[in-house]
Amino acid sequence: MKTDPVSSAGWFGDFGGRYVPEALIGALEELDDAWNAARSDEAFLHDLGALHRDVVGRPTPLYEAERFSQRVGARVFLKREDLAHTGAHKINNTLGQVLLARRMGKSRVIAETGAGQHGVATATAAAFFGLPCVVYMGATDMRRQHLNVVRMQMLGAEVVGVESGSATLKDAINEALRDWVTNVETTHYVIGSVVGPHPYPELVASLQSVIGDEARAQVVEVAGELPTEVVACVGGGSNAIGLFRGFYDDAGVRLVGVEAAGEGLDRRNGASITRGRPGVLHGARSLLLQDDQGLIAHAHSISAGLDYPGVGPEHSWLASTGRATYVTATDDEAVAGFKALAETEGILPALETSHALAHLLSNASSGTVVLGLSGRGDKDVETLAELAP
Ligand SMILES: *Cc1c(COP(=O)(O)O)cnc(C)c1O
Repeated sequence: MKTDPVSSAGWFGDFGGRYVPEALIGALEELDDAWNAARSDEAFLHDLGALHRDVVGRPTPLYEAERFSQRVGARVFLKREDLAHTGAHKINNTLGQVLLARRMGKSRVIAETGAGQHGVATATAAAFFGLPCVVYMGATDMRRQHLNVVRMQMLGAEVVGVESGSATLKDAINEALRDWVTNVETTHYVIGSVVGPHPYPELVASLQSVIGDEARAQVVEVAGELPTEVVACVGGGSNAIGLFRGFYDDAGVRLVGVEAAGEGLDRRNGASITRGRPGVLHGARSLLLQDDQGLIAHAHSISAGLDYPGVGPEHSWLASTGRATYVTATDDEAVAGFKALAETEGILPALETSHALAHLLSNASSGTVVLGLSGRGDKDVETLAELAP
């Protein structure tokens, strides 16, 4: 596992930090200390590697998508996180965090979830370790994502509906924080992306960097060279950071993050880097979608996983230094990306991932591309069926 490329103090340039109530500082310091000890402990790394191998099914394949490549003009390799247990990259992080929580002596885990994907991944990890799990979810989201609620319940988690505010993700985050402050002695809060106060962005990035470490070795083995471009979709940014970290030191490799342009960049969208300004949300300073008054704007994307008004601080930093480039794809372009991969490769990708595919379709490219196929799209077929003419 690579070490923190930037700073152990929780800053990525001007981004990151720890903007939380005093009552949580102790818990974050305890987590930071535990993670720093665990990441250099052979026994912990051995256990984590075994979980990634036997439970997640790692290494995931790097698959040369020959017919999709013909359509886009570049030689495209897909890093198949859709083949990971539960169908997306999120399980790499949740299993790692619950392993860490157990090492810290915590007897209970909590999480918040928007569309339910992180909730399912956390409930899966908690069930695996036999720890009780409470997932906070906006009541509106519970109605919209009923199937994921049922999945979490079947995995033994208690799903607590949050009725306050807009009854969506941000309200669920507030409720999870309230629980954590109250029960911090016994409870670990599992955050699902490279967001939140330090050390979460670093912790989640490290746990997801297995994607990039594997992909780099695989592409060199199969293609005999480094890729010209590495592409991934960006919601909070964890699958992209996990993939990018494998290539940070390869100056010739272009890193491209694809954000959700939603209905278009001048309408409702989820393009926090392309359209955002610096501000503080959920414990960290990063680029955020805001209105003229500095209030957090309502994000929109056809894919639930990209429908977030912020982004992890490491991405804001990568954008500010120019090491990574950020582009966008609209809802309609993502749907076209989904269809293209289904037709050419027989793979139904997640709508989140489809934004990255769309970027390749609309930007004639040559050379060798590694694309992070962050998850499978079974969860999205109803959304797509409703759009069908
Ligand atoms: C949650 C999710 C995302 C977005 O989250 P990141 O932290 O940006 O990776 C992307 N793809 C899939 C399949 C997801 O489930």
